[in-house]
Amino acid sequence: MHYKGVLTKMKTENGSPIQYYLVFKNDFLHVNQLLDKQLTIQFAGYECLNCGLDKEIYRQGFCKNCFFDIPQAADWIMKPELSKAHLGIEDRDLAYEQKVQLTPHIVYLANSSNVKVGVTRKTQVPTRWIDQGAHEAIEILEVPNRYLAGVAEVALKNHVGDKTNWRTMLKNEIKDENLVTWRDTLKQYIPEEAMPYFLENNTETHLDFPVLKYPKKLKSLNLKKTPQYTGVLKGVKGQYLIFEDDTVFNVRSNEGFVVEIAVS
Ligand SMILES: [Zn+2]
Repeated sequence: MHYKGVLTKMKTENGSPIQYYLVFKNDFLHVNQLLDKQLTIQFAGYECLNCGLDKEIYRQGFCKNCFFDIPQAADWIMKPELSKAHLGIEDRDLAYEQKVQLTPHIVYLANSSNVKVGVTRKTQVPTRWIDQGAHEAIEILEVPNRYLAGVAEVALKNHVGDKTNWRTMLKNEIKDENLVTWRDTLKQYIPEEAMPYFLENNTETHLDFPVLKYPKKLKSLNLKKTPQYTGVLKGVKGQYLIFEDDTVFNVRSNEGFVVEIAVS
């Protein structure tokens, strides 16, 4: 079977195990059904996720012009504490910023390679955790806007990590942590303005990734350097495809790349 389309991050459905889908315009692949099959991935150009042009992708699936222009790629996306829609202040497009920022947000602890703090819109739970490859996570605050979530995250970052070590995550060299204990320990560092939104009774969510064999060493597939790759799929974790020869492919960091995929 042959498929062609522009890569976007895989859609997921939580379950045992999690179900992954690669969605193209006219087609989709149920990635779980490709386990143990041989895939050939061929680089076939670019298609910016905003303007649709065949221009080199700069970041987050966008060409350079779009990345520095559109509201979906503004700084407050990666740094929620820079959000200003709650003050009525525009960054790039106030209507868009109000729609995205002035909705319930979750501050969570997730364990992907180590315990880290993160922020996501409430509608993105547990999608966000799946995308990060976290095997366990817990919601610790539910706040009414992105700014408050960002302020709490910044305060907690001084006492817990905020990054995933993707190598550790993919090799599955992980530890079970008691996130309830972590939450109770970190509570004292939550800023006063966010405290009314503390969630004291939540329990851990555990996530089950479809991986038959974890890699020992890691070789990251870069389609710019290696425009064609063939390998047997052995798993999916986070937004990574894991192959039998220890090659891993980060679908998310290749958003906007047009690929042909052959399955045999
Ligand atoms: Zn563009």
